[in-house]
Amino acid sequence: MSDCIFCKIIKGEIPSKKLYEDDDMVAFFDVNPQAPIHFLVIPKRHIPSVMETNSDDAYLLGRLLYTAQHLAQEAGCDQKGMRIVINCKEDGGQTVDHLHVHVLGGRQMDWPPG
Ligand code: 5GP
Ligand code: ZN
Repeated sequence: MSDCIFCKIIKGEIPSKKLYEDDDMVAFFDVNPQAPIHFLVIPKRHIPSVMETNSDDAYLLGRLLYTAQHLAQEAGCDQKGMRIVINCKEDGGQTVDHLHVHVLGGRQMDWPPG
């Protein structure tokens, strides 16, 4: 989508600090980190939120999670863990309408979220 920030990051029109890229997805550090480790894993295809996925997307969704886990391990979260978050639409606190998986690590997380 032409006015989507994350589509622009995918196309290189907005700079980002990338950790990973393949044909289907890209991972980059969050511009406003909420933890010592905070990056996003996103599909290259513009999907507004997880609410717009269907059974055809099951493999992609699995790969997004597996990539998040793999990159979190590489970032040093393998022993103490991390948090994976997918905000969805208004009540979920989603601010960028392109599906993304947050990976947050390097500190103790609180529960429940605010
Ligand atoms: P949401 O609130 O939608 O779950 O998360 C969107 C995330 O995208 C936020 O954590 C925000 O800091 C991040 N973000 C927004 N714009 C940019 C940008 O231009 N570059 C990067 N790297 N992150 C962004
Ligand atoms: Zn997009």
